[in-house]
Amino acid sequence: MSEGSPSAAPAVCSRAGCRADARWRIDWRNPRIHAADRVKSWAACDEHRDFLREYLAARSFPVEVHAIDASTEASR
Ligand SMILES: [Zn+2]
Repeated sequence: MSEGSPSAAPAVCSRAGCRADARWRIDWRNPRIHAADRVKSWAACDEHRDFLREYLAARSFPVEVHAIDASTEASR
């Protein structure tokens, strides 16, 4: 129930009520309350990636979306 160990947490979409596997990590920051080096991370499934990104972007938060690659560096 508590946040705290992002590396150990299972990658499940952060959208409320969504239990889908996350395929994207959304790194964001609230400049008004977070220092420049303090970045929050949400996980998102394909369906909710844009929803969550736009939710943050609409608040003018810096937001970056990164693919979560479960199979470690699958780029050829
Ligand atoms: Zn989702």
